[in-house]
Amino acid sequence: MSSNKNVKKATHLMLRYTLLPDNSREERIRELVKFCVDTGIGEVIFFINAEEFNDGHLTLDETRIWLDAISEAKEALSEIDVSTSLNPWHTLLHGDRGRKLRENQNFQLMVDPYGNMSTCCVCPLCPEWRKYIKEIFKLYASIKPKIIFVDDDFRYHNHAPLIWGGCFCPIHIEKFSEVLGKRVTREEVVRKVLKPGKPHPYRRLWLNLFHEGLKSLAEELHDAVKSVSNETKIGLMCSDPTVHAAEGRNWNELIKALCGDKPIVRPHGGPYTEASPPHWHSAFALLMHTIALLPKGTYICPEIENFPFTRFSKSVTQTSLQITFSQLIGSNGVTLDLFDFMGNGVSMEPKYGEMLIKGRAYWDAIGSEHSGQGEMRGVKVIFNPESSYHTRTERGESWEELYTQDRGWAVHLSSLGVSYAFSTINDLSRDELAAISGKMVYSLSHEDIRKLLRGRVLLDGQAIRSLSEMGFGELIGVKEANWLNQREAVYSFEEMIDGDFMQKGLRMTAQLVAPDRLLGYKLMNDCRVISEIYTAKRTRVTSGLYLFKNKLGGKVVGIPYVLENRLNVAFLNYIRQEGIQRCLKWLESDIESGIVLVKGEPHILPVRIDFEEKIIIGLFNLTSDSVDSILFETSRLKPSSPLILEKDGSWRKARAEILTKRGIHTRILVKEDIWPQSEMILKFQKP
Ligand SMILES: [Zn+2]
Repeated sequence: MSSNKNVKKATHLMLRYTLLPDNSREERIRELVKFCVDTGIGEVIFFINAEEFNDGHLTLDETRIWLDAISEAKEALSEIDVSTSLNPWHTLLHGDRGRKLRENQNFQLMVDPYGNMSTCCVCPLCPEWRKYIKEIFKLYASIKPKIIFVDDDFRYHNHAPLIWGGCFCPIHIEKFSEVLGKRVTREEVVRKVLKPGKPHPYRRLWLNLFHEGLKSLAEELHDAVKSVSNETKIGLMCSDPTVHAAEGRNWNELIKALCGDKPIVRPHGGPYTEASPPHWHSAFALLMHTIALLPKGTYICPEIENFPFTRFSKSVTQTSLQITFSQLIGSNGVTLDLFDFMGNGVSMEPKYGEMLIKGRAYWDAIGSEHSGQGEMRGVKVIFNPESSYHTRTERGESWEELYTQDRGWAVHLSSLGVSYAFSTINDLSRDELAAISGKMVYSLSHEDIRKLLRGRVLLDGQAIRSLSEMGFGELIGVKEANWLNQREAVYSFEEMIDGDFMQKGLRMTAQLVAPDRLLGYKLMNDCRVISEIYTAKRTRVTSGLYLFKNKLGGKVVGIPYVLENRLNVAFLNYIRQEGIQRCLKWLESDIESGIVLVKGEPHILPVRIDFEEKIIIGLFNLTSDSVDSILFETSRLKPSSPLILEKDGSWRKARAEILTKRGIHTRILVKEDIWPQSEMILKFQKP
């Protein structure tokens, strides 16, 4: 969470908008001004050269035409106290889509790992293009916008039709040869960077080259803007942090280079089109992961986007849910990309405007609760921005193998009704529970791993496999761990076997949870095995869920399944919910971590934020069914009746029963409705 929450604030709505210079300009500006007044938009971020009307890399004269139109709108907007910012739709360019360079544009085009060359996306190291883009940014700055946002094509991946992205062009290979002091080929670089197993030394050097390339470009863009308009700020739009990790991105350095001392970031917030409600677990985890990476004090304005627009693409319900979630986690603003790029204006979907008017008081009320530094409570999902430097590839064929699955637990815990937050290993404190999935453990030092295993930790199958490969089997209760797959083994179902822990004989699917691989492990004798995995003939295959206390005094909970960033619905059911929640309480035992556990309902995502004098708990119903009451447990809470936030922005006493305390936990039954794809926001007094 960002720390600059000292002022009470209303919702800062930032509309991303296309004003085509030659398309009913006056009428569009009039309409835009009225829309801002009606809906309370505080800032308009104008697209330049975007999507359908993108014409490759514009000349200075062509750019002036866009800026003339925007300047006209800027004047009108300033009269109603609405700021003007710019969103040039691209730097390098998102994708080709048939666009080509102009004849005199002697730019190095982007090349992918397999040698395919773009027709219009450029290499960020190309000196000719850098000269050009700096002049273009100076021109943007000349109209003195509040912020110039660098769009999220400011990255190496995702420049279709290139495979993965770039850039592996001759300039890049030449630079890398200089670093190495000998000549290399693109093929050799790709092969060695992706080499299976322990990373080849080229991995670090190449990812550093990637990072330095964008960082130096960011510095040049910053200086270009500041040389013309010192008051203009520069913001960064970004994508999935897992993907940026495979670009060697050092967030602090890149953001400082681009934004200077006042960082502004628009984190990615997909999906752009209507999603099945449980999918929002993944989307919200991605948003929280990104925010956790940003330097303290960053101005955060998450992306709300409905491309390709209107309610044919995304409903008011889901758009509104996203805005509410952004407000609850303490965003400073929200960027709204709600209307098309073809000059049709804001009237094509009147329901979005109505939504902004209707939701305003509610969002303002949520935002104004962030009146001091808040701290998110929940299982701490551990991530490392440098994970791609250390992860171990298996095939060594594609750049995607450098992605780690750090959000595996986040997505699945929230589906099971467990609150979480992201943390680095450095920020993890002794009274918190940690969860680790995927291969990120390879990026931790042995000392960090021991710190982790002295505490209380939840591990997925991949994390267990990686830790035992690194020689930590003894500290996680595992003697041996090997992958099983369905070509060679039958693993049908999982059955609860420890009647003292929870009801014996309950069964869950194993084969659907693990279509690719399941970890077969031999556990140490002092592990407490909660479930076993069996074949259809009821022959035991391996252990399932287990608990272990190690010799460092740490506690470990393990499962044999691999949890990825993508939601795996087969993992979820009421038995799993109860099993995992009981394990978390066993991990927590004598400490009070403040996690929230929602009982017996699917897909209620809980968010708990502790402030100096109050605790806010948001419960998001990510299903299509309404709920008429909700039961949850949490620790470190004064057993008092909460207030509930009404849609008009007022607080009233909630119909709630504080049930007897169970150990360190308070059980609360709130007898209020939560509508489908909606939420309940509660406020408690602090103990
Ligand atoms: Zn290049």
